[in-house]
Amino acid sequence: MGKLKDTLCKISKKQAEKHRDEMDEITGTSNFICKDCERTAIKKKWLCKPKKNK
Ligand SMILES: [Zn+2]
Repeated sequence: MGKLKDTLCKISKKQAEKHRDEMDEITGTSNFICKDCERTAIKKKWLCKPKKNK
């Protein structure tokens, strides 16, 4: 199983399901939020328009 490379914003539902463990890790801590799609992630590299989440 490959590693996720795209941002959460680009990852499809299908991909997300395939990489569920990794997704849990990425989204489990919402340090950053995307200004475009309002997804949250532990690191800003996973978001297209990351903003620090307060
Ligand atoms: Zn985004």
